[in-house]
Amino acid sequence: MNDTIFGKIIRREIPATIVYEDEHVLAFKDIAPQAPVHVLFIPKQVHIPTLDDLKPDQAELVGRLVLAAAEYARKEGLAEDGYRVVMNCRDHAGQTVYHIHLHLLAGAPLGRFGTAH
Ligand code: AMP
Repeated sequence: MNDTIFGKIIRREIPATIVYEDEHVLAFKDIAPQAPVHVLFIPKQVHIPTLDDLKPDQAELVGRLVLAAAEYARKEGLAEDGYRVVMNCRDHAGQTVYHIHLHLLAGAPLGRFGTAH
């Protein structure tokens, strides 16, 4: 059972602004956007808490998240100016929801990233 917030969104138990869905991937707007466009891409059918839990036979799933984000960026006219995709793993990266997800950030020049200061 996926008891995370994202599991509840997948099961439509809580609302989200869904922008893309296929058999494997669900994408919705981040509730606290860190850029003009901030969309989360998550696997729908399997619960993988962190990237560290990803198994070799699940590699295709991460590819699907990346491809869905790239396709969304292209469709929304964001690809030419560019965008960033990010996956946070555990505490030092600030992961707060333990169901793997890919952040798509776009819509303006983005700051650099690195250690906290
Ligand atoms: P992370 O910090 O990498 O685990 O990312 C989790 C993201 O989920 C954060 O950017 C949150 O703003 C976002 N988030 C949390 N709850 C919701 C929600 N109910 N709907 C949409 N995004 C959410």
